[in-house]
Amino acid sequence: MNSIEYMQKAENDLLHTYNRYGVVLESGKGVYLFDADGKKYLDFASGIGVCALGYGNEEYNAALKEQVDKLLHTSNLYYNLPVIKAAELLKKASGMDRVFFTNSGAEAVEGAMKAAKKYAYTRDGHAGHEIIAMKNSFHGRSLGALSVTGNAHYQEPFAPLLPGVCFAEFNNAESVKAQISEKTCAIIMETIQGEGGVYPAEKGFLEEVAEICRKKDILLILDEIQCGMGRSGEMFAWQNYGIKPDIMTSAKALGCGVPVGAFLMTERVAEKSLAPGDHGTTYGGNPFVGAAVSKTLEMMERDEMTKHVRRVSEDLWNCLEGLKEAHACIAGHRGMGLMQGLEVTVPAGEISKKALERGLILITAGTNVLRFLPPLVIERWHVEEMAKILDGVLAE
Ligand SMILES: *Cc1c(COP(=O)(O)O)cnc(C)c1O
Repeated sequence: MNSIEYMQKAENDLLHTYNRYGVVLESGKGVYLFDADGKKYLDFASGIGVCALGYGNEEYNAALKEQVDKLLHTSNLYYNLPVIKAAELLKKASGMDRVFFTNSGAEAVEGAMKAAKKYAYTRDGHAGHEIIAMKNSFHGRSLGALSVTGNAHYQEPFAPLLPGVCFAEFNNAESVKAQISEKTCAIIMETIQGEGGVYPAEKGFLEEVAEICRKKDILLILDEIQCGMGRSGEMFAWQNYGIKPDIMTSAKALGCGVPVGAFLMTERVAEKSLAPGDHGTTYGGNPFVGAAVSKTLEMMERDEMTKHVRRVSEDLWNCLEGLKEAHACIAGHRGMGLMQGLEVTVPAGEISKKALERGLILITAGTNVLRFLPPLVIERWHVEEMAKILDGVLAE
C-alpha cells in the first residue's frame, strides 16, 4: 500500500474524530520524522509536547527494551521497582510529596479533582464542594476533565457535565475572587494555557491566587501536562513563579512517548485525601511506564535539560521576533521557554499545512495561533532551519 491507500483505509476504519494532516509518519531520528514515502520533516510539535527527548534516543530506547524483556505489567496490587524509582525522581524534580501515576493527562486531572474533593470532604465532614476553573482552558476530554475545560464548543454536546464548576477569567484575580464561595474547594488552571492559545499566567495573578488559596484553605491545582517537564525552562512551569501548588498534574513529556500521567500533592493534602478504596487504575504506574518515567527524569537531570531549554528558547524567541518584524500577518508573539505561540491574522491551519508540504511539522492552537512545541533537545540550527521554512511559507 502507498500512503494514499493507508490514509483511505484509516478513514474507513477509525472513528472520524480528527481532521488529520495528510501524512503517514513512520520513523524518527533526533528532531526529524520520516513519512511512509521517505520524506523528511523537521519536528516542531513533538507529538503535542510529548517527545521531549526527540526520536530514537538510544539510551531511552535501551531502558524500555530492557524493561519489556523483564516485566511489563503486574497491577497495583503489588509493588514494582521501576515505579518506586520513578516516584522518587518525580518528587525530587517537583518538590511535591505524594505521586499517583495514571495513563493519560485527562486521568491525572480526574484524580486531582477527586483528591481536592476528598480533602474538603474530610475537613468539613460533608460533600457538595465546588471547583473554580478558567475560561479558555484545556484539561482533557473525559467528562470530568471536560467539565473544567473552559470551551463552550467542546462542552456543549455533552451537557449536563459535572455540577459545581464555575469559570473565571485567566489572569484576572478579581474575576477569580468573584467566583469564590464557602463551597469552593479548589481552583484549577494551566500554569501556561496551551490549547487556548499559549498564554502564560502572569506573575501577579498566580501569586494572588496562591495567596487567596492559602488564606481560605482552597487547594490550588496546577495543570502542568503541557508546560511541565522542562519545557518552560524549569522542570515545572510554576517553579518560575515563586509559588507552589497543593496538587499538580503531569503527563505528555512525563514518559516521552509511553502513555503515562501523574497527579501529585503535598503531604498536607495527602493526609486528608484519597485513601484505600477511593481511587485506582489497572495500568497506571506499571513497570513499563515506570521505566520510561525514571529514565526520562534521570536523563533530564543529568543532561541539565532546563539549562539547555533556557538557552535555546532564547534563540527561538529571537527568530520568531524576526519573523514578526518581517511579516505583517503576525499580530502577536508570546510564551515561555520552548512553548511559544505566534498569533496570525490569516488561518493558522493553512500555514501549518503549507509548512508540512515544505517539511516542517508545526501545530496550531485554536484558529489563529501557530504553536511551537519542539523536542527539548533542539539546537540553534534547528531553530534557524524552522525559521527559514516558515519565512518562505509566510512570504507566499
Ligand atoms: C493534553 C492536555 C491534557 C489532556 O491530556 P491527555 O493525555 O490528552 O488526556 C490536559 N491538560 C493539558 C494542559 C493538556 O495540554
